[in-house]
Amino acid sequence: MESALRFADKAGITDFDLTGGAPEMNPDFKWLVRQLAEHGGRVTDRCNLTVVSEPRQEGLPEFLAEMRVNVTASLPHYGSEITDRIRGSSVFQRSISALRMLNGVGYGKPDTGLELTLVHNPSGAILPGHQESLEAEFRRKLLEDHEIVFTHLIAMTNIPAGRFLRFLEESGNLRRYMSRLEQCFNPATTPNLMCRTLISVRWDGELFDCDFNQSLGLQIRNGMPTSIRNASLSKLVGRAVRCRNHCYGCTAGQGSSCGGAVT
Ligand code: SF4
Repeated sequence: MESALRFADKAGITDFDLTGGAPEMNPDFKWLVRQLAEHGGRVTDRCNLTVVSEPRQEGLPEFLAEMRVNVTASLPHYGSEITDRIRGSSVFQRSISALRMLNGVGYGKPDTGLELTLVHNPSGAILPGHQESLEAEFRRKLLEDHEIVFTHLIAMTNIPAGRFLRFLEESGNLRRYMSRLEQCFNPATTPNLMCRTLISVRWDGELFDCDFNQSLGLQIRNGMPTSIRNASLSKLVGRAVRCRNHCYGCTAGQGSSCGGAVT
């Protein structure tokens, strides 16, 4: 963390995404957020929502609001059945209760400046629907059913890497899903792929072109600095990215990135 902060300071980086399943559970999470806030950074916490009800996480929404952290929260669907099928039993109810707490401290409300972005991803080996239509649908249903408000919704394609890749293999869907992604390849997505403007730093400082490459253990290209400890911005900017078949997930249809659709 200290090396990454030194690098960011020197390179003038101001956008930070904290991710990794449940980054809030790292014992130094709050320390890092305070450092980044002091640095004047725009900090986003990629929150799985259920963490809010974990032991020793009391006061998390209040802390995030005080530090003006943007929250990007995973909620696959506005209905309990689909969300629980994707994320596990009772995840939906815990997520709704976390969203209420976030709304309670101002997240997602107009004029507070506290952004609450929801992340939708489809259940299974299909592409997500149109992002704008999904946002309108989520907004209506969450307000009607739970009085929950949010700022934006982003739709992300399920990338054939990590756990989802194992699911595709085990369910015999890998070939069909890959060929669907390839058929939907959209060249207009490539200028805005997230690997063109971000770098993923693992807990030990090792560098990857993106989170997905990190989950596959596909380190940054040979000849590049492999750790944030010896990285320099001039070497990282304009680097060639290590692409593999999973990249079709980012380039299919409306495209997919940490900010949702890219076209
Ligand atoms: S296109 Fe490939 S390298 Fe780029 S963000 Fe997507 S998965 Fe990562």
